[in-house]
Amino acid sequence: MNRTDFSRITDIFDREHLWHPYTSATNPLPAYKVREAHGCTIVLEDGTGLIDGMSSWWCAIHGYNHPVLNDALRRQAEKMSHVMFGGLTHEPAIELGKTLLEILPDEFSHIFYADSGSVAVEVAMKMAVQYHYACGHPQKTNFVTIRSGYHGDTWNAMSVCDPVTGMHSIFGTALPVRYFVPSPQSRFGSEWNQDDIAPLEEIIEKHHDDIAALILEPVVQGAGGMRFYNPEYLRQAVSLCRRYNVLVIFDEIATGFGRTGKLFAWEHAGVKPDIMCIGKSLTGGYMTLSAVLTTDEVAGAISGNYPYAFMHGPTFMANPLACAVAKASVDLLLSKDWKVKVLSMEAQMKRELAPAASFPNVADVRVLGAIGVIETREPVDMAWMQKRFIEEGIWVRPFGRLVYIMPPFIITTGELSALTSSLLKITGELQAR
Ligand SMILES: *Cc1c(COP(=O)(O)O)cnc(C)c1O
Repeated sequence: MNRTDFSRITDIFDREHLWHPYTSATNPLPAYKVREAHGCTIVLEDGTGLIDGMSSWWCAIHGYNHPVLNDALRRQAEKMSHVMFGGLTHEPAIELGKTLLEILPDEFSHIFYADSGSVAVEVAMKMAVQYHYACGHPQKTNFVTIRSGYHGDTWNAMSVCDPVTGMHSIFGTALPVRYFVPSPQSRFGSEWNQDDIAPLEEIIEKHHDDIAALILEPVVQGAGGMRFYNPEYLRQAVSLCRRYNVLVIFDEIATGFGRTGKLFAWEHAGVKPDIMCIGKSLTGGYMTLSAVLTTDEVAGAISGNYPYAFMHGPTFMANPLACAVAKASVDLLLSKDWKVKVLSMEAQMKRELAPAASFPNVADVRVLGAIGVIETREPVDMAWMQKRFIEEGIWVRPFGRLVYIMPPFIITTGELSALTSSLLKITGELQAR
């Protein structure tokens, strides 16, 4: 497969004019041109098929070009693609809302639809501040979070991302300053160390007067480091927050809808947040949509006091196309034995990625649900590695020292084996270089 002609799968206009995520405008790494995608396969311009290991950044849980989702989108487009949500409503928003409340605990009663994960995080943070304002605590405006987190790229979301990987140094005083505590060191599935909670306890005891909420990704920290931590942390963190009148925001944007082996990652801990963000795989990866869910308590306080309304309302709020696809995607997930499938992917990845643990250049191998991570000792050479993945017929996009996969749930055991064996092969070559 060393005959790949890379000039046929890149584009000069794209290279010269289109900015890609976290990429140089003048000296970008290659972006490969995709002709189509179906099932678990991404097809490049020259016809090369790649087995997808990324679910397009956690989203495409049902794979690509799914007939059920296509159908939902087409039917809705024929009725209306969009109407404003101010003063109007529609069936896709209502039906999706009913489904979300059915799969979430009874405490959640109010849903705010937003455009993307980052916007959901902004909305959740605003909700927390407005809640305390309404309750007569206008000084509670700051946030506490754990290091190695990732919550999105907009201003406030960025302020609670890991300060190092989130590049806070570049933005200097432009970013609000948050309280950061070390991320829990007790790993998922290993023994709990009570010392882990001490820094959070200390910060909350000292600063709860100006803290509106704790925000974190439950159990799995995604783009900030692909870490899996002990759910006991969540139990203790939530009880601390309750004691000090600090709200809890769980960012389930990456982990929601089955990825960790539970429908939502907080289920590993059995404790519920006051505000929860979902996004990414909500629409099965078809388009951008997110939602913020909260309780009667939070929604009621905000709505019962000045300004008697929640102060947010995006133009494309509750976009009917997105809601219709999301409803179809959630129904499709629930109609299947998704948990059995995710746990079998977990078992297979544990078995097949294990040999990498003995590579001299590999620091750690870990698997949780449908997430498999190989952590190398040194940052990987992205340009080289990406090329090699394409030559091997797989699509994986590492960052830093993290070579990881989170394939669509529809992947077959054969496809998953092809993915893991190529991954091992290329990681092995990395050490030889
Ligand atoms: C991706 C992600 C976001 C941001 O979502 P966007 O849709 O990219 O704005 C927020 N939080 C978590 C945990 C994420 O993984």
